[in-house]
Amino acid sequence: MHDTLVVGGGVMGCAVALHLARAGQRVVLLEKGGLCMQASGVNAGTLAIQIKRAALIPYALRGWEMWSDARQWLGSDAGFHQVGGVTLAFTQEEAEMLAERMEARRRNGAPIEMVGSNRARELEPGLSDKPVLASWCALDGYASSNELGMLFRAALANADVEVREFASVDAIDRLSGGYTARTLAGPVSASRVVLAGGMWLEALLKRDFGIHIPLICRVNQVSVTERMPPIMRRVVGVATGQLTLKQSQNGTVIIGGGWQGKGDPERGGYEVIPENLIGNLRLASYAVPALRKARVVRTWLGLEGNTEDAMPIVGELPGAPNAFVIGGVRGGFTIGPFMGMLLAQHILGQQPEMPIFDPTRAIVPSPSAAGKTTRRPDSAS
Ligand SMILES: Cc1cc2nc3c(=O)[nH]c(=O)nc-3n(C[C@H](O)[C@H](O)[C@H](O)COP(=O)(O)OP(=O)(O)OC[C@H]3O[C@@H](n4cnc5c(N)ncnc54)[C@H](O)[C@@H]3O)c2cc1C
Repeated sequence: MHDTLVVGGGVMGCAVALHLARAGQRVVLLEKGGLCMQASGVNAGTLAIQIKRAALIPYALRGWEMWSDARQWLGSDAGFHQVGGVTLAFTQEEAEMLAERMEARRRNGAPIEMVGSNRARELEPGLSDKPVLASWCALDGYASSNELGMLFRAALANADVEVREFASVDAIDRLSGGYTARTLAGPVSASRVVLAGGMWLEALLKRDFGIHIPLICRVNQVSVTERMPPIMRRVVGVATGQLTLKQSQNGTVIIGGGWQGKGDPERGGYEVIPENLIGNLRLASYAVPALRKARVVRTWLGLEGNTEDAMPIVGELPGAPNAFVIGGVRGGFTIGPFMGMLLAQHILGQQPEMPIFDPTRAIVPSPSAAGKTTRRPDSAS
């Protein structure tokens, strides 16, 4: 019997599994596809402190630190580059919103400075003359999300985690002394279970624990251009950071976020919405005019699950001893490695380095869950 069974091999599940195993636990991780083939491997790879929610800034700073030190804990620098970032406002209304949001983030420790349009163009000569105001954060950068599955596979193997890919968990049964996951290849048992199912957490929680935590599904869109000569140096954020662009070392420009695509987590079948894609590309070239000459070679979509209050759910499930959840983290590529470490510290009985996020606050009553769980109105973080 294993000590811990992790369901879901995205950045959250892999990070928890790695930290638990390095602390001496026997860990098994079950992933229905390949490691980091969903949100954690298809995201835009932006590590931008200035676009994180104010309340999550201390977590984002620690996540950023972990990425900058990835060689030490992940065995590779994971394509980490710190290039600095500017987030742009094009109208007076946007400028007010940008200044207000950045002030809240600055108060929580983000090293952000507001700069005028001339200074923004000095920092990023590729910008158009359209911005009226910008924020600047020297820490912002990016890493290679598409390498993450491969890197975690090697790190988890070195830490003796038993990783089973293409092993969908069809049900989790609570038995005396632990949990058993049912898979096509047979049952897998452990003393505790960690649910790290990304956008699929809502369905997993409802099916196996009778707990209803609604997740808002964001169908994020990322495009990559052909290789270009150097046209920009920084991470550029537009629409108050909803859309980010940066040029990789190989010359391609990655344009991520913005208006979304269409998709269904249960049935699959994601679809680009052409007018949304065109809107994102127009906005990108409004900010960096050299992009008007770029040809997009590929656009893809990925699913992100956000809680109703847009804050993470990281902690023990009420009424289910030794069952834990980790998910709902906005900007989870940046923050994920640190969130995984926090949950591992909690599971190991240590004081987590920063407070974790009681999932109870996000539970809503559902007819199928009647009598199993109740919402605790005083527990909102
Ligand atoms: C397109 C896109 C762009 C983004 N850009 C950025 C960015 O630039 N910067 C940033 O910081 N964040 C970004 N994010 C957010 C970030 O990628 C996510 O917050 C993070 O990857 C979520 O990690 P996760 O492990 O919770 O989920 P996931 O990576 O989705 O992992 C969950 C895993 O659980 C598995 N699973 C589900 N059900 C089962 C089951 N029954 N049995 C076994 N396995 C199961 C799934 O197959 C999946 O692999 C972006 C997200 C998307 C989608």
